[in-house]
Amino acid sequence: MSDSTARRLALTAATSRPGRALPRALDADGRPQRVSQVFGSRVFHVERMKQRLPPEIFARWTETVERGARLERPVADAIAHAVKEWALENGATHFCHWFHPMTGSTAEKHDSFLWFDHAGRPVEKFTGSMLLQSEPDASSFPSGGMRSTFEARGYTAWDPTSPMFLMDGPSGRTLVIPSAFLGYHGESLDEKAPLLRSMESLSKSASRLCALLGAPVQRVTATVGPEQEYFVIDKAYAVLRPDLVVAGRSVLGAAAPKGQSLEDHYFGSIPPRVLAFMEEVEAELYALGVWAKTRHNEVAPGQFELAPIFTEANVAADHNQLVMQTLRKVADRHGFAMLLHEKPFAGVNGSGKHVNWSMQTSTGDNLLDPGHNASENLRFMAFLAATLLGVHRHAGVLRASIASHGNDFRLGANEAPPAIISVFLGDYLTRMVDGIVSGSVANLPAGQAMIELGVSRIPAIAKDNTDRNRTSPFAFTGNKFEFRAVGSSASISFPTACLNAAVTDGIDELVAWIEAGDDVMTAVRRALTESSAVRFDGNGYSQEWVAEAERRGLPHARNTPAALGYLHTDAAKSLFGRTRVLSAEELESRYDVRLELYNKKVDIEADVLGELVDTYVVPSVLAEIQAIAGVAGKLADARLAAVQAAGDALLAARADLRTAVSGTPDGSIAQVANYLCSRVVPALAALRGAADASEKLVADHRWSLPKYREMLFVNG
Ligand code: ADP
Ligand code: MG
Repeated sequence: MSDSTARRLALTAATSRPGRALPRALDADGRPQRVSQVFGSRVFHVERMKQRLPPEIFARWTETVERGARLERPVADAIAHAVKEWALENGATHFCHWFHPMTGSTAEKHDSFLWFDHAGRPVEKFTGSMLLQSEPDASSFPSGGMRSTFEARGYTAWDPTSPMFLMDGPSGRTLVIPSAFLGYHGESLDEKAPLLRSMESLSKSASRLCALLGAPVQRVTATVGPEQEYFVIDKAYAVLRPDLVVAGRSVLGAAAPKGQSLEDHYFGSIPPRVLAFMEEVEAELYALGVWAKTRHNEVAPGQFELAPIFTEANVAADHNQLVMQTLRKVADRHGFAMLLHEKPFAGVNGSGKHVNWSMQTSTGDNLLDPGHNASENLRFMAFLAATLLGVHRHAGVLRASIASHGNDFRLGANEAPPAIISVFLGDYLTRMVDGIVSGSVANLPAGQAMIELGVSRIPAIAKDNTDRNRTSPFAFTGNKFEFRAVGSSASISFPTACLNAAVTDGIDELVAWIEAGDDVMTAVRRALTESSAVRFDGNGYSQEWVAEAERRGLPHARNTPAALGYLHTDAAKSLFGRTRVLSAEELESRYDVRLELYNKKVDIEADVLGELVDTYVVPSVLAEIQAIAGVAGKLADARLAAVQAAGDALLAARADLRTAVSGTPDGSIAQVANYLCSRVVPALAALRGAADASEKLVADHRWSLPKYREMLFVNG
């Protein structure tokens, strides 16, 4: 007989957890410690390097980083010595190269500093070569066929532009060295190298455009601030849900009666238990030098957000991984399960990661910040036009960059950006852009055209852009773009690298036009005209937009296999080749790895839903039938008929899932993906529907799985 004893115990656990709070930290004078006093305490940041390195070594290091050159051995040795001493003083025993394989998460292999001297006595040792490079066995990480297991050697190489830091263990510390992961022939096996290369290309191209506009700069950096959404529920529920345990998502569960319909959670006061968790997360992140800035409730019950202050794209990508790791780790200490999945619960909003993005010059100017004089405004218009051109030309690649099994449940689902890439500019900018395109100012000198268009008023107006469109996947928000379609569990590296590549391409085109004789305004006008179709300020959730986007020729991939197809085109190969972000082989591997991951995720969901139905739902339904079967009277008869009908529907849908799964073709990964997407995913949805209908009928005390109303609403 199936019953709800475990569920009830979970409810008790969830409502009776003792609170956990950190002792208030005090400074030497007994006053509350300020964040600025502890920020970066576990980071070997530039200031610390400057203090601890001989001046000439520090100067050579700075020069190397700025030129993007190779570190010479003596410099590496000196840095290794300094960081080892700092790490040992702070209780570290181990070091590790920390890298980002194509799984989307991070990997690390720890080695202790322990070594022996000439007399065989124990010492701590860490050299420049240990800092620069290590050789983990690469064979167990996905490579998309780039490296077969007999050629398993890969190596990790320190990324000197992302600072080293100390990771806390339960009773020790590890020095973490942010690294790139490469195959033996230099091919990139990770998420980081393409991001770094895309930043390099963007910097070169953007600097060229700046020079052509008469204001040369040394470098341009892609800046990123990713807002992270997540759900927390009590751990006691999560461990009773096999789907949450293996898939990170509930694959069945009837909607809670209330859902998010009262709209009372967004920006509401943060529940004390969650606030305590957030405070501890932030304390950890501050020590790690992560600029955690904003925290608030999100739209769905149990859903929250953490946003950092923006920084260089590669550091932001490292930091976002630290944010996700820290959220997971600290949640556990507070008795929470951290759900970073894009769609943990049907019927309420899913989670995304808004990747705020811009470009910043070496002198600190934001190239997407409308300026205060005509020449700055011309520069703004040129970079805006280049961005629009790049996003329009490579909308398919950008769509592919955010494609994942989890994001399929979210995109285009009336709560998240549609699966069509378009750009929101807002009324004011749109009027200006339209003015340029229609030619009303085309023959004026650039400076005068800017005045005529009223560009000098942009800063005030764009920042106060109250009609911010929540339905756009790529929105201009005053002085940056917000790429809102990225999934909450995804690494931001690949989407950012694709965006950098697309915009680099747009800039290169503008540069080519200007160098071939166009004046700047003409080139801007050409770019804005060509990219007109990608601009859309209307409601991205509407059906009309889908039809309109098709008329405009914008790519619309409804699911991951279709979206990933945009990586498998000559246009993509050529874009990544020209911008030197990925070789043809490396691009192919991204396509393979992502498709394979999709296939695995569908397989896992089919397994776990089948098992849940067979071992939880069916026994509950049977127990219900058994309980009513002997009872006489109309009420019992009606109920029995209803439960039996639900049981029959369940059985039919279960059989169909089996048929669907067993029909999986023995073909290429793309064939398998297309089949799973068109046949198995709908079968899963149908079986879920049948299971959820049963849940609504079966007596509550005979239902063994924690319900949505408990997981979403009863957490302490
Ligand atoms: P919201 O979008 O919620 O209104 P903000 O506009 O203040 O919030 O910022 C959202 C995110 O955008 C933050 O992480 C912020 O640091 C980031 N951001 C702000 N300026 C830039 C920029 N120039 N480049 C990249 N990210 C930026
Ligand atoms: Mg935002």
